[in-house]
Amino acid sequence: MKTLVWVEHDNASVKDATLSAVTAAAKLGEVHLLVAGSGARAVADAAAQIAGVGKVHFADDAAYEHALAENIAPLIVDLMGHHDAFIAPATTTGKNVAPRVAALLDVAQISDILSVEGEKTFTRPIYAGNAIATVESSDAKLVITVRGTAFAKAEATGGSGVVEDVTGAGDAGLSSFVGAEIAKSERPELTSAKIIVSGGRALKDSETFEATIMPLADKLGAAVGASRAAVDAGYVPNDYQVGQTGKIVAPEVYIAVGISGAIQHLAGMKDSKTIIAINKDEDAPIFQVADVGLVADLFTAVPELTGKL
Ligand SMILES: Cc1cc2nc3c(=O)[nH]c(=O)nc-3n(C[C@H](O)[C@H](O)[C@H](O)COP(=O)(O)OP(=O)(O)OC[C@H]3O[C@@H](n4cnc5c(N)ncnc54)[C@H](O)[C@@H]3O)c2cc1C
Repeated sequence: MKTLVWVEHDNASVKDATLSAVTAAAKLGEVHLLVAGSGARAVADAAAQIAGVGKVHFADDAAYEHALAENIAPLIVDLMGHHDAFIAPATTTGKNVAPRVAALLDVAQISDILSVEGEKTFTRPIYAGNAIATVESSDAKLVITVRGTAFAKAEATGGSGVVEDVTGAGDAGLSSFVGAEIAKSERPELTSAKIIVSGGRALKDSETFEATIMPLADKLGAAVGASRAAVDAGYVPNDYQVGQTGKIVAPEVYIAVGISGAIQHLAGMKDSKTIIAINKDEDAPIFQVADVGLVADLFTAVPELTGKL
């Protein structure tokens, strides 16, 4: 079976989520990659170094610079003429590209897989991760997105893939790139951080969130996350959101501060290796998944903890 993996990148380097997608693809057989970008030859060369990769299809065109799904999907569909499966990481952009590919191929997408059970059989979460479904595709071609936290990352070096230039139709004329507002932060990226400190509605407002959560995160070298209630209330931007409709994370340590532990939040963090919860309500559901729980007022406990670190 030949699988085409879409490489997520910023025209300079390969994003980590791609490496988990490669691991999933390797379970199906031969792994080919697609690097579609603009001035992204360095990305194609780096992608060829990923362990286990055979061929890297490299499409260099200004139309692919911002990974607009409308432009990339037809290119992928062309390449699917000689591939059996298409895999993208279940990231924001991967989740934008894959459904368009599935629609153009007229197949059912298999989303957010957790494991590969057979050539066409996979497990995936349903009901916000409260049940795991085993699904089998009956389509001739597969279109799959991969949950990054469920697969180990392939080694970024040690491979000997061959880069092959390809051309696509370029600009499909359906969308255009207007601009991007990217939050710049010195802190680690949420989905690849080893430690995450997350704050909930209890943090009251953005100033209090900043003054309480950020010093603890900085002492620990941690990324900062938030519940949806904290995001909806405007304490932090929505790319901080962890959960069913936010990011799925599985760090070594997840510290939930003033977060109740609604199932939609747990769906995004319950696979963390160690969960620490600080909540003043001893009956808060977060304590059911926590390895370490502190029943305390966060406004006393967090500054004290930060001070002692
Ligand atoms: C379709 C759908 C999708 C959703 N997706 C997501 C998602 O992706 N992510 C997500 O997080 N939510 C999501 N939600 C919302 C979710 O149901 C909850 O509403 C949300 O997670 C609650 O956020 P919270 O725990 O911060 O707030 P609350 O539930 O209000 O909890 C606040 C907690 O803080 C504690 N507390 C208050 N004051 C203090 C103090 N001084 N010291 C210590 N503890 C204190 C309280 O005891 C309480 O447990 C979704 C909901 C729906 C319907």
